[in-house]
Amino acid sequence: VTLSTDISSHLNTERVALQDVRIGSGVRHQLAAIVAELPGDGPVAVLLDEREYLTAAGESVKRTIIAALTAVRPVVQVVLVGDVHADEKTVAEAVAGCADANLVVTVGSGTLCDIGKVAAGARPHVVLQSAASVNGFADDQSVLLINGVKRTTHSGWPHTILIDEDIVEAAPAKLNRSGLGDMISMFTAPADWYLSSLFGMDRGFDANSATMTRRYGDDLLSIAGGVGRSEPAPLATLSEFVTLSGISMGVAGQTSPSSGMEHTVSHLIDMANGSEGQPNAHHGEQVGVATVLVALLWRKIIRQLDEGSIGELVVPDAITAEGAVRAAFDWMDAVGNTSNECWADYSLKRAHLADTDAGARLRAARASWSAHREMLESLLMAPERIVKALREAGAPTRFSQLSEPIAAATVRWALSNCHLMRNRFTIADLAALTGAWTESDVEEIIEEAEALGAGL
Ligand SMILES: [Zn+2]
Repeated sequence: VTLSTDISSHLNTERVALQDVRIGSGVRHQLAAIVAELPGDGPVAVLLDEREYLTAAGESVKRTIIAALTAVRPVVQVVLVGDVHADEKTVAEAVAGCADANLVVTVGSGTLCDIGKVAAGARPHVVLQSAASVNGFADDQSVLLINGVKRTTHSGWPHTILIDEDIVEAAPAKLNRSGLGDMISMFTAPADWYLSSLFGMDRGFDANSATMTRRYGDDLLSIAGGVGRSEPAPLATLSEFVTLSGISMGVAGQTSPSSGMEHTVSHLIDMANGSEGQPNAHHGEQVGVATVLVALLWRKIIRQLDEGSIGELVVPDAITAEGAVRAAFDWMDAVGNTSNECWADYSLKRAHLADTDAGARLRAARASWSAHREMLESLLMAPERIVKALREAGAPTRFSQLSEPIAAATVRWALSNCHLMRNRFTIADLAALTGAWTESDVEEIIEEAEALGAGL
């Protein structure tokens, strides 16, 4: 399967400053020529981590790139050491290392690319991806750790993205499976975004960017097995998917097309790991597993809306809401940085919902439910089908199977509290505010996932 989408038609537009995307075998060899054509003759900063990237033929990708770049420009290597996280200290290191360069080249993962976007600032930024592992390369946003909380921050578009199939095919299979898992969020995130528009919290819901990847949902499901086996054509399609998904977020000016409750659950798990000094699982594999649970919650709430059995939406008063946020996050650090950061965002959401009478908005949505239902059904996907695709890809379906297994208690905590972290409205907010996200509701969703061979 190859996508019928033409990525180039989305490039270099009013909203998308990304100039060029090259996907194919050997495109790494075009990097030096691309850099040589960019203005200026000063040094190139090459942002790297300590990982070795080899092609199937055993070629060291970094060595090839550095040699080719050195032939056209002075090169400054900026190497971030250890397990790289996009925290304040690491970002500052990258910014300082790249300070004197004319342009920045990043070779590596999604996290490294997010750091590179900040370090490059207004200067051209050329990215060579190490895998099709996440969708966050092709947009102008970075997920940074601020006060220990994962925050999506406006940064800058890469100038050019290179996805070399020789590198992607040689990447560990779990990284590309992880990219598939990240893309599987298309079966819940756009529905969350649409839902948020019913409460005036969407910051501009746009059907075009909401469905830019979702319209190819069947194609994504059909490549799962091939991605799992690292076959070239399915990986090329996946590369196209992650790029298109990034572009959709850039066009939307927010991550909502690809980031809903499944991502907040994943973010909370990462934050818990950070607070306990534990490493994170691969982002996309975690998101894929979370998506199953979110799809089950969506199914339950839609059933309640169909039956008319959904509860009245009640917005808590500020003191009650702050108590809930503090109870969820106070344990994470000694001085309350994380709970302060979460309350700063959640309090804005609470105030908006209270000021705009969210209860009345839900009643209005119920009055015209059939139209909303049709839209939501076109965006959602049966949880059974999502599990099937993960299984075909050889990707985990349970949190305990992730590259860094997650304890059941952490998953329960993340599911129960994910709506308290940020100023965005998802199905978890609707469930919580209508009294349908109690401990026993969370347990019920987990049990339904268990019945599908997924979940904890
Ligand atoms: Zn993601």
